[in-house]
Amino acid sequence: MPTDIDLKNEPPLVDAFQSPDRLLMGAGPSRVHEDVLKAMSQTTIGHLDPAMVAMMDELKDMLRYVFQTKNAMTFPVSGPGSLGMEACVNNVVERGDKVIVAINGVFGTRMAEVTRRAGAEVIVTEDEWGTAVDPNKVEEALKANPGVKAVGFVHAETSTGAMSDAAALCRLATDHDALSIVDTVTSLGGVPVNIDVWGADAVYSGTQKCLSCPPGLSPVTFSDKAVQVTLDRETPVQSWLLDLSLVASYWQGDAKSGARTYHHTAPVNALMGLHEALRRIVAEGLESVWARHKAASQIIVDGLEEMGFSILVDEAIRLPELLTVNLPDGIDDGAVRGKLLNDYGIEISAGLGPFAGKLWRIGVMGEGARPENAERVLSAIKESIA
Ligand SMILES: *Cc1c(COP(=O)(O)O)cnc(C)c1O
Repeated sequence: MPTDIDLKNEPPLVDAFQSPDRLLMGAGPSRVHEDVLKAMSQTTIGHLDPAMVAMMDELKDMLRYVFQTKNAMTFPVSGPGSLGMEACVNNVVERGDKVIVAINGVFGTRMAEVTRRAGAEVIVTEDEWGTAVDPNKVEEALKANPGVKAVGFVHAETSTGAMSDAAALCRLATDHDALSIVDTVTSLGGVPVNIDVWGADAVYSGTQKCLSCPPGLSPVTFSDKAVQVTLDRETPVQSWLLDLSLVASYWQGDAKSGARTYHHTAPVNALMGLHEALRRIVAEGLESVWARHKAASQIIVDGLEEMGFSILVDEAIRLPELLTVNLPDGIDDGAVRGKLLNDYGIEISAGLGPFAGKLWRIGVMGEGARPENAERVLSAIKESIA
């Protein structure tokens, strides 16, 4: 046995990482409650341990509650919100399918790109950033393009703070025999999401926004109709990892016995965290959670307006959990955000794309959506711009 393996690289000198104390009030990730962090630091168990399987069943039930759905296929995909987007698009879409994607910000643009890469012929509708998706444009596109397989849109556009009419858009899709693909990453847990009332088909979300859980998991839910479409595919889903008919062997198991089998090693501790984050929402009640987001957000809006700031998005379609704040001339975007982070330990987010340097994005998500956090942000901004 050779023992003199010649190491070419010296071992790096590294201390244990110390996460700084931050109040996360940006576009995500959001503040995480310590009970969720504690849940995640429990002993790692096997991904098929009976205790794990029982926990997963509770987790699915709680997801059905927050999504307001009876969909059997409801579980978290092992990856961030963007992977949920990939999962929904790639399971529904086959090469050559016609798909309409409504764009009114960064995430609609991303969905169009993901759908194009899945081989679809993508028809886009476009609305000004900061406004909602116009259902009339989607209807016109559906009429002009017979045989469209799916309509994709973002319920809560995190790049602009605008909310679209998910019920109307899902209904249009259904009326034209198309499936809906719906991004609820920033809406779930922040504003009403009602999958079964909407009649939404392939829906994804994320853990790191209003669910107040660390990033890295993406809850998805598929209507029975969407499941049937994926079963009727002519070609297998290109991605083996994201093929939900295979992932279901782990999350739902054998149709008769329910026995679970290995698909991939699920992120056990992350799931323990999601279980606790959802349990906290269930205990508080969805209506109270939504009201808490609204109330904390209103405190920030009122305080900012008093300081002379204005909000980009009209009140009627404004997301309480993501405020886009116009920056008046004379305010140094980067300098103020830097001061908030370094002197006050508060993170808010910059504008994206055409809004870079023009606005701030203040997240009022999950645990962040509490009056004391709203007041902290306001007083830090006030002192930082003085
Ligand atoms: C954050 C976000 C995503 C992507 O989620 P990641 O966890 O960053 O991959 C997708 N859609 C919307 C609307 C988002 O806000």
